[in-house]
Order: sequence, then structure tokens, then C-alpha cells
Amino acid sequence: MESKIKEFMKLVKVRNQHEPEFLQAVQEVAETVIPYIASQEIYNGKNILLRMVEPERVLMFRVPWIDDSGEIIVNRGYRIQMNSAIGPYKGGLRFHPTVNLSILKFLAFEQVFKNALTTLPMGGGKGGSDFDPKGKSDGEIMRFCHSFMAELCRHIGANTDVPAGDIGVGAREIGFLFGMYKKMRNEFTGVLTGKGMSWGGSLIRPEATGYGTVYFAQSMLETRGDTLKGKTVTVSGSGNVAQYACEKATQLGAKVVTLSDSSGFIYDEDGIDEQKLAFVMELKNVKRGRINEYVEKYPKAKFFKGKTPWGIKCEVAMPCATQNEVNGEDAKTLLNNGCYVVSEGANMPSRPEAIEAFQGAKILYAPGKASNAGGVATSGLEMSQNSLRINWTRDEVDERLKKIMKDIHDSCIKFGKKDDGYIDYVTGANIAGFVKVADAMLAQGVV
Ligand code: NDP
Repeated sequence: MESKIKEFMKLVKVRNQHEPEFLQAVQEVAETVIPYIASQEIYNGKNILLRMVEPERVLMFRVPWIDDSGEIIVNRGYRIQMNSAIGPYKGGLRFHPTVNLSILKFLAFEQVFKNALTTLPMGGGKGGSDFDPKGKSDGEIMRFCHSFMAELCRHIGANTDVPAGDIGVGAREIGFLFGMYKKMRNEFTGVLTGKGMSWGGSLIRPEATGYGTVYFAQSMLETRGDTLKGKTVTVSGSGNVAQYACEKATQLGAKVVTLSDSSGFIYDEDGIDEQKLAFVMELKNVKRGRINEYVEKYPKAKFFKGKTPWGIKCEVAMPCATQNEVNGEDAKTLLNNGCYVVSEGANMPSRPEAIEAFQGAKILYAPGKASNAGGVATSGLEMSQNSLRINWTRDEVDERLKKIMKDIHDSCIKFGKKDDGYIDYVTGANIAGFVKVADAMLAQGVV
């Protein structure tokens, strides 16, 4: 089996030599899915995984815009339309200076499996730009978003490709992007998700990724007759996913003690309660400040410059910032400090060595493609509401989100439960996602 996986990865590496994040994401899937393919007659000899690692389409385009000083800036825009076997391409847009083809392809690839897990009819895609929104005025953000969408609008549509937010793309950016799409195409359709409530958005969409990550942690704990109540939780990031993971974990009786951004992390031993979180939301979403300002407001807390929160003692860790933010050493530290639940809010935040350590110690470890699928699932619910031209209540959407997260958890158990009872959520998520997409691809023939 090992030689089959090596042979497959060799082929993928030749074609994607300069794409380390993409290769990392493919390797993880190959290790779990290739043995399954070999055991199932219907997939044999169909080269399905080889077809799945090749995007259906990659778009790269120039994004010129004018900054406040009058200078013309040129950024690069991307959209990876990875797989549409089970529905229109669906996945976020990331605006961050590190964005490149490798990062977007890894995200698009993971998205295919994640979207399949939600049971909703969504294919996988991802896009973005190397544009850095930090420090830009609202006018600059608007001009950039408008220029980006002036090109992207030719390639997307409510039944073709429906982007959403990701790092650096929140409610403000979705608004500017939607405005330009509507102008260029002269149609008011559910082409983006994460929209404002008065123009097609869904209740709970902003909360969904963070809430879903916590619901998933809760489901994992239930398999051991345990709950989140009274647990100490470390969260990284302080953006959309981190904020709502913090909110829901606190509501369920846990104590969240850390948040971070790319400058370092804050540790608040007393817990980041509702009032403190409201301060963080105002700081990050409105004032667009830095997390170290937390300790000016709450001097009992400490700020650790340039560090990640994984050295802080906790039972539950929720990485909610970015890819590869938990390395092998961090994982060992977490385990030594008694952490036994890791629910990923970010995409691929744990390096392979970290995953190996978590699984070696048989803790409850959920990969992002399962535990953070609540965001895209609720985007799917936003699309349904747009098509039906109705709005569900907050409770209705939250109930659907809870059910989807529970169903994803059940799918992971179906394909990931080992003989000794240990649930390998990586294997479970990869195979469950693969089966749904692969069956659709088989039915549709070689296209
Ligand atoms: P935001 O832009 O709202 O927040 C990102 C947070 O992560 C910020 O605190 C940011 O700090 C920090 N961060 C970003 N890059 C780095 C880095 N290189 N090193 C350290 N910290 C970093 O993004 P989201 O909360 O939406 O996304 C967070 C993660 O969740 C991403 O992996 C994303 O792909 C994933 N995700 C998001 C979904 C969504 O619905 N939004 C859905 C599913 C997954 P700073 O401000 O300093 O950059």
C-alpha cells in the first residue's frame, strides 16, 4: 500500500513541484483514501483521486487599483474551480499577502471534501488575492474589491460558483464585492454568501464556523461521556472564527483563556467572558486594532509577543487562525499539559507531525475539513434561502447547523472507527467526503 501512495504522490509532485501546502493536503488525503480505494472494487482503475487533484479550472488575473495617494497598485487575483461533481463551486475568498497558488489549491482541495461532508449540494472552490487589507482605508478596500470583482464576475454565478469570506474577507468586503457583481451582471442573485441581513444574508452565517467547531468538539466529548462544561480552552486567532468559537465555548460553560493575532497572543487566566469578547469584537471588527490592546483594557491579562498560545495549559485547543500554526513541538507541549481535545476552526492548522502526535496519543482530534464545515454548511443554507426567497429564523438556522455538525460527526465515525474503538476523524472525514464526490464523478463519466 505504501508503494501505491508513494507512486501516486510522485505523479502529483512532478506536476505541482512548487506547491508545498497543496502537496501536504493531498498527502494527508492520499494516505487515508488510497487504501480505501484499493478495498472497493467500483473505484479500482478509475483514477478518481488523480482526477480530483487536478482543478477543473484555475483563473489568475490582474487586479489594478488606485490607493489614497493616487498610486496605481497591481495585485494578483485567483479563483480555483476545483470540483463541481456534486454542485456549483463553493468556497471562500482570502485576501492576505501570503496568498499564492499553492495555498489556494490546498484550500480548494480541502473544500471539496468538506462540502461533500455537509451533505449539501456544493462543489469545491477557493480564491483570493495577495492584497493586504491591513492598514488600508475603507475607500482603498472598496476600490480593490470592485476591481477584483470586475474580473471575477465573468466566471461566477449563483448556479456556477458562489464565493464567500475567509481570512481578510468579512462583511465589509462581501458588501463591496456584491455591489460590483450586481452592477456588472445586472442581477440580484445569491452569488456570494456572508451577505448582510437586509440584502440576502442568513442569520447565524457570521457565527457558523466558530459555533460549528465548538459543536463538533462537544460531539467528540460525548463519545467519552464528557462535555465542555468546566473545561479550559485555548483559542488562536481573533478573527471571525476565533470570536464565535470563544462565544459558543463560553456559552457551553467552558473557560476560554487565549486569543491571538499575527503579533502574538493574550492570556487571560480568568477567562474571556461575554463582556471581554464584546470588547475584542469592537477592537477587531470596527476599530481594526491589534490583540495586544486587550491587556491595556484588562491589565490582569498578559500579552506574549510573537508567540502562539499552545504553551498554555488547557484540556481543549481550538486553532482558529491559519494553516500550519501548530507544529510537532506545540503538539507535544499541548499533550504534556493534559490537552485531550483538538477541534480545528482553521484550515489545516496542524502540521503532519502534530497530527501524528495527537493521533498517537489517541486524543479527540478533528481536522478542519470536518470541524469547521459549519461555515460553508450555513453558506449552503444561505443559498437555499436565496433560491426560495425566504428567511429562516435564528433558531431554525442554528438547529440545522447543529444537525449538520452531528451528521458530519456520525460520518466520521462510520468511516473512521478503529477496531479498538478509537475514532480516527482524519480517515473518517476523508473517506466520507471522497465517497460522495467519487460516486458522482463515476456516474458522470470522464469529464
Ligand atoms: P479572519 O481574517 O477573520 O481572522 C484571521 C485571524 O487569524 C486573525 O486574528 C489573524 O491575525 C490571524 N492570522 C492570519 N494569518 C496569520 C498568520 N500567518 N499567523 C498568525 N496569525 C494569523 O479570518 P477567519 O477567522 O475567517 O479565518 C480563520 C481561519 O478559519 C482560516 O484558516 C480560514 O481558512 C478558516 N475558515 C474560515 C471560515 C469562515 O467562515 N470565515 C470557514 C472555514 C474555515 P492578523 O489580524 O494579525 O492577521
